Amino acid sequence: LNRNQFESAMMKILRYRLKTVGKFRVYCTQSTFYMEPEEEDIDMDLAFDRVKTVFGLAALSRAVVCEKDFDTICQTAEDYLGDSLHGIRTFKVEARRADKSFPMTSIQLSQYVGGELNEAFPHIQADMHHPELTVHVEVRDFAAYVHGDPAPGAGGLPVGVGGKAVSLLSGGIDSPVASWMMAKRGVALEMVHFFSYPYTSPEAKDKVLTLAQLLTPWCGRLTVHVVPFTKIQEQLRLHCPEALFTLLMRRFMMRISERVAQRVGAHGLITGESLGQVASQTMEAMAVTGQVCTLPVFRPLVGMDKEEIVRTARKIGTFETSILPYEDCCTVFTPRHPKTHPKLEEITEAEAALDIE
Ligand code: ATP
Ligand code: MG
Repeated sequence: LNRNQFESAMMKILRYRLKTVGKFRVYCTQSTFYMEPEEEDIDMDLAFDRVKTVFGLAALSRAVVCEKDFDTICQTAEDYLGDSLHGIRTFKVEARRADKSFPMTSIQLSQYVGGELNEAFPHIQADMHHPELTVHVEVRDFAAYVHGDPAPGAGGLPVGVGGKAVSLLSGGIDSPVASWMMAKRGVALEMVHFFSYPYTSPEAKDKVLTLAQLLTPWCGRLTVHVVPFTKIQEQLRLHCPEALFTLLMRRFMMRISERVAQRVGAHGLITGESLGQVASQTMEAMAVTGQVCTLPVFRPLVGMDKEEIVRTARKIGTFETSILPYEDCCTVFTPRHPKTHPKLEEITEAEAALDIE
């Protein structure tokens, strides 16, 4: 019953994504979104690329519009899909009509267009079950639309319909992927990065900003809250057992991120943790880091192997930046023998000895 809300969110996003490409009319009927150029010289390749990264769309088709007349439809299909039809052996036509006053049924129209195409391209054969190309014809109220096989869309849900969360973005491979996965489920993101100048370089911070920028085609506009973390780390180094260092540091990150979430009206935290990947990502470790906050902590990579994460990072375009060799605040003070099965009491005891408000 709330389909409407999703559709209007989607249209808003599509309009925003296409704003700098040119003037488009964006509308939705029967859960299909139409983006029609309203100017002559619009770069439709660019428009298509922009829309490819919009979550909430299952499939994308580049259609050509023509008059609702049998012969015009056939000629348009010939012209528009000619290149593809030359290189294949089997095809089928799938016609639909939203306009029920159109003087042919869908089946008749499919057969008619199929017959005409066969005459124009005698080397291709109709194959109803495994065609190499399906020619789609949609007869709607004001015009007919012709297109070939749709390309896969980005899938997921429109960003924002799933609420807002704060994502802890390091410069590594994992957290950009985790952020992307949550955005895919419709979550609007606000980023937090902890940075430890002068232990980490300004380049390390720029790298994180670049990562955020690389995510914007998927996630929309992003704000990155850069949190100076050096003082806390120095306190920890002075006063806590080395084996607990990473865990205590992660607890402070969670606390601060929760404060940011409260300020920006976010209802969850996101990290790039994956079970068993490093010492601080065991079940017990996750329990003690999650214990300091009341908001739900989403760890979308929890069950993924590194290879799967890397594959996704490559697909979304963050991998090459993530592997640039800058120090991260976590690696600066990595303990030699980190505790993998921490007990909450030893953690709270260590924190009691700290002078951090
Ligand atoms: P990543 O590849 O995302 O850096 P990682 O495998 O290096 O992850 P950790 O260093 O244990 O793992 O960090 C776990 C998670 O904690 C990260 O995925 C990220 O969400 C968060 N995190 C770590 N360091 C930072 C940081 N400097 N700023 C913000 N978040 C961080
Ligand atoms: Mg890291």
